[in-house]
Amino acid sequence: MDLGIKGKTAIVCAASKGLGRGCAEALAEAGVDLVINARSVGPLEETAREIAAQYGVKVTPVVADISTEEGRAAVLSAMPSPDILVNNAGGPPPGMWSDWEREDFIKALDANMLAPIAMMKAVLPAMMDKGWGRIVNITSQSVKSPIAVLGLSNSARAGLTGYVGGTSRQVAGSGVTINNMLPGLHATDRAVSLDRGVADAQGISMDEAKAQRAATIPAGRYGTREEFGAMCAFLCSEKAGYIVGQNILLDGGAVNATF
Ligand code: NAP
Repeated sequence: MDLGIKGKTAIVCAASKGLGRGCAEALAEAGVDLVINARSVGPLEETAREIAAQYGVKVTPVVADISTEEGRAAVLSAMPSPDILVNNAGGPPPGMWSDWEREDFIKALDANMLAPIAMMKAVLPAMMDKGWGRIVNITSQSVKSPIAVLGLSNSARAGLTGYVGGTSRQVAGSGVTINNMLPGLHATDRAVSLDRGVADAQGISMDEAKAQRAATIPAGRYGTREEFGAMCAFLCSEKAGYIVGQNILLDGGAVNATF
């Protein structure tokens, strides 16, 4: 399928690894020039080189923490008016409801709610003037089905989801769509660190922890970044202009709900 976005431009946040990288690769495959960012320079530059070499698009790496104002300014100065924006950042640490203080919530809100909102506010006016834009936010299945140990994530992502629900309807008439992708378990570094938490808590091996978690998924396995990226590229495509304000689960059936 021709996604109809060859020659367009995109910012993909937090994209040196994992799901962000999957989105960047799929957009590059569709012919989109990219700005990608992450905090660690080595993996980011390597990812940028690999994607540019494989797909023949321009990939500009920007070392920046997207949860900070300076980080966002650096990313936006490399591409002030992208056609496409994919919002992403690392997820908050697990814990217990009784552990978290105001400062912990502020950090989670900064990374997983206020950073994507600030990025959207920065790029929306130019997208609306052009009459075309695509925004995808990477959130979590925890928006639909809370994961108790990820209370910081449950809270921050629910706030972002509410904002997108309203804002997507305010901008849709200008040809701009905003949607959220809700990952369930995917085989990334984040999944490995959560596997480690289960292994340590239960005194079992990493393989046992992974098998135990995979067994909770009807598909019987973790998702891949390639599968995730393909959905992202479709949502950012010319074909997806009528998909507005949706929350799309990619979870192998893990959330047990009819719709
Ligand atoms: P990952 O494999 O750990 O990759 C995270 C990427 O984001 C890395 O490139 C990392 O690079 C970058 N990053 C993290 N914090 C950043 C920041 N503040 N500013 C800029 N770049 C940042 O994680 P993932 O599995 O792809 O997860 C992506 C998001 O999806 C997270 O919010 C996660 O909680 C959520 N999620 C993941 C899963 C899953 O199973 N994988 C499930 C549900 C939700 P640097 O460290 O160099 O900055």
